[in-house]
Amino acid sequence: MSSTEPSVFTRIVAREIPAEIVFESDTVVAIKDIAPKAPVHLLVFPKTEQYRDVTELAAGDPTLLAELVGVARDLAAQHMGGEFRLVFNTGESAGQTVFHVHAHVLGSPDARGHLSEGSLAQ
Ligand code: 5GP
Repeated sequence: MSSTEPSVFTRIVAREIPAEIVFESDTVVAIKDIAPKAPVHLLVFPKTEQYRDVTELAAGDPTLLAELVGVARDLAAQHMGGEFRLVFNTGESAGQTVFHVHAHVLGSPDARGHLSEGSLAQ
């Protein structure tokens, strides 16, 4: 975070802002996105907001990045039949609006649904 204000995700972790929390450990939280872009759209992020984006997290704490990916895999198994799209918007021009690293985990709830490949570039 460049500002001194806590991020929206830090405020969700602190229960200052309501959210549908689907996973929480000592280090990682996952919530339902408030404005879903897929039939199932979850956000997975570390509790710490010290990393702005995935490049900072990969350089600073690769173990924590691997933990996020593992949580995404487990949530996809529970909510999306195991298959999912993992997106880290990195930078404003790429659509990042919250500068507290987070993974978008996108998918369909069952085998009948699917994400279109073309939607990736929207
Ligand atoms: P970004 O655009 O930074 O990659 O992703 C930020 C995501 O956070 C967006 O998909 C947006 O809908 C979601 N978001 C922003 N504020 C809130 C909130 O207060 N609650 C929840 N559940 N999601 C939020």
